[in-house]
Amino acid sequence: MARINDHFRKLQASYLFSDIARKVTAFQEANPDRKIIRMGIGDVTEPLPPACREAMKKAIDEMGTRDGFRGYGPEQGYPFLREAIAKHEYQNHGFNVAADEIFVSDGSKCDSGNIQEIFSSEAKIAIPDPVYPVYVDTNVMAGRTGVSKDGRYEGLVYLEARPDNGYIPEVLTETVDLVYLCFPNNPTGAVATKEQLQAWVDYARKNEAIILYDAAYAAFIQDSSIPTSIYAIEGARECAIEFRSFSKNAGFTGTRCAFTVVPKELKASTKDGDKVAVHALWNRRHSTKFNGVSYPVQRAAEAVYSPEGQKQTNELIAYYMTNAAMIRKAVEALGFSCVGGDNAPYVWIQAEGSSWALFDRLLDELGIVCTPGAGFGTCGEGHIRLSAFNSRANVEEALERLKQLK
Ligand code: PLP
Repeated sequence: MARINDHFRKLQASYLFSDIARKVTAFQEANPDRKIIRMGIGDVTEPLPPACREAMKKAIDEMGTRDGFRGYGPEQGYPFLREAIAKHEYQNHGFNVAADEIFVSDGSKCDSGNIQEIFSSEAKIAIPDPVYPVYVDTNVMAGRTGVSKDGRYEGLVYLEARPDNGYIPEVLTETVDLVYLCFPNNPTGAVATKEQLQAWVDYARKNEAIILYDAAYAAFIQDSSIPTSIYAIEGARECAIEFRSFSKNAGFTGTRCAFTVVPKELKASTKDGDKVAVHALWNRRHSTKFNGVSYPVQRAAEAVYSPEGQKQTNELIAYYMTNAAMIRKAVEALGFSCVGGDNAPYVWIQAEGSSWALFDRLLDELGIVCTPGAGFGTCGEGHIRLSAFNSRANVEEALERLKQLK
């Protein structure tokens, strides 16, 4: 009989969203007239920018002509998009990234999940706690962990984000091979300073480790002293891969387009100790298993960098960040300690009790749904996440209700 990959059986079922759904349904049944406001959502709410829609429509029309039709494109992405990304996200800010180091894809979820495949199954991994679960689960699937005990997998090193370290994990004293970092962070909304990132880059170079840097929320950074890219840090080209996405800055969660940067200098070792270029490996993996993002979607992503696209995406970000600032202010006014909301669309709130206890209070007393932090890992316990991805009307109503919290 065909054998399954038994590592999949180690995966912990995530009851987070089903438990939330069950509680919300029960509340709605008991209070049929009460409007529930969902403040826990990680998906965007506002429509696609007009510049992206126009570019997509034009590309579709082009595809309907003999001259403009395109079949399979380059797996790594069309040069027009790779060049626009390199220029606008990196070179214009003084960061050294070339167009051919950019791999366009259909999502940072896939890329941050797939990247582990090009590294040894024996690689030692460090992941944040709380965490975007993709980093953990994909390594469990690949057999890099033992079983889960008390919410933690054997064999993984956990980078704890706690109130007493300002939710920025300290640089490790032990040696690992791969370090997942995510800034601005999901779920905490915390951002790392240049000095904090420099310490991680120094660690990686000293220990010949590779940093897998998820910057899916980079566009939300408001403070100009906070790096928007790991390549703002000296030495990062030798030790870091960066994941970026159009999902949150341009509303592409349903349209799907992202990119991963693998610098040419980045090397990893073979079993025999020879050093090989990670760029070539990822190129091989990407072109073997992926056939490119559709032409109209790449044109839509390119339009993000047109003058109108920049104006419209800046407005989108400002809209969400105004929500975030309003949420943070209201929550602090109630006496809660929190982080995030200033350079990220998430506010991470200390619950003064268990995550689920505050979840229940917000739902039962106010009809507001949040995300309990315990669902993101051991260090998430005692916290909830509120999201700025919402309409202004919903945020205003939720914050009015919050004043009634007993
Ligand atoms: N990385 C982080 C930290 C995220 O929170 C998300 C989505 O919520 C993603 C990546 C996924 O991005 P994409 O829509 O590009 O797959």
